[in-house]
Amino acid sequence: MNTCQVRLQAREEVAGGTMAFHFQRPTDFAFKAGQAIDLILPAAVAADGANQRHAFSLVNAPFENELVIATRMRDSVFKRALKMFPIGGQVEIEGPFGSLTLHNERARPAIFIAGGIGITPFMSVLRQATHDRLPQEMVLLYSNRRPEDAAFLLELQNLARQNANFQLLPTMTEMDKSDRPWQGETSHISKELLRKTMNGLQKPVFYAAGPPGLVAAMREVLNRVGVNDDDIRSEEFYGY
Ligand SMILES: Cc1cc2nc3c(=O)[nH]c(=O)nc-3n(C[C@H](O)[C@H](O)[C@H](O)COP(=O)(O)OP(=O)(O)OC[C@H]3O[C@@H](n4cnc5c(N)ncnc54)[C@H](O)[C@@H]3O)c2cc1C
Repeated sequence: MNTCQVRLQAREEVAGGTMAFHFQRPTDFAFKAGQAIDLILPAAVAADGANQRHAFSLVNAPFENELVIATRMRDSVFKRALKMFPIGGQVEIEGPFGSLTLHNERARPAIFIAGGIGITPFMSVLRQATHDRLPQEMVLLYSNRRPEDAAFLLELQNLARQNANFQLLPTMTEMDKSDRPWQGETSHISKELLRKTMNGLQKPVFYAAGPPGLVAAMREVLNRVGVNDDDIRSEEFYGY
C-alpha cells in the first residue's frame, strides 16, 4: 500500500447533498477498478486526530488521469472539513485496498447491487469495462429514494447505451417525494426483483455496496433466493 500527497483539483455536486472531489493522480499510483483509498486530511483542518481519516471507493476508472471520490455530505467533523478544503490544497491518501474488484472468471456475469452512495466502486468498474469493451455481462441494480438523490444516473444511462453487455436497472423507492418524472421501477430490492434480474444469467457473481443495513438485507435476500455466500462480495459504508 502506498502513501502519497495529492492536491484537490475540483469539487462538484453530483446529486442532492452529494459531492464528488477530484484529486491529482500521482503517475505511479496504480489501482484496480472497484478499489478504495483512505483520505487523510491535515490535522489542522480536522478538529481532532480521530476524524482525519476516512475510506472512500474510487469513482474514476484506472484508465482515467485523476482520482475521484464521491460522498453524501453529512454534517460530520470530517465532511465539514472536506467541504471547506481549499482547491489546490494538499491531502494524504493511502491505498489502494478493497476487494470489490471484478472476478476473473469472465464467463460468469456480474450483478452489482448499489444502495445510494454505494454506487461509487461500481462506477469505476463500469467505466473501465466499457472503455475496454469487455465482453462480460453486467447488471446494475441501483436503488435510491428519488432520481434527485441518484448520483451518476445520467452517466450510467449513457454507459448502458454504449455497452451492449451492461444492463442498468434503477429503482426509486420514494417517488411521492420527488419532483421529477420516472417511468422505471419503484419497488425495494426484493426476492422478486432479484429473481427477475437473475433470469437467464448463468452462475452470476453478486456485489453489494452501501450502508450496512442495506448490505445485510441484500445478503439475506440473496441467500433466500438460493445464492451461496461464496458468490457474494460486499462493502459496507459505515456512518449512514
Ligand atoms: C472500503 C470503504 C469504501 C467506502 N467508500 C465510500 C464512498 O465511496 N463514499 C462514501 O460516502 N462513503 C464511503 N465509505 C464510508 C466512509 O468511509 C464514511 O464512513 C462515511 O462517508 C461516513 O462518514 P461521516 O463523516 O459522514 O460519518 P462519521 O462521523 O465518520 O461516522 C458516523 C458513525 O458511523 C459509525 N462508524 C464509522 N466507521 C465505522 C466502522 N469502521 N465500523 C463501525 N462503525 C463505524 C460510528 O458509529 C460513527 O459515529 C467507505 C467505507 C469503506 C470501509
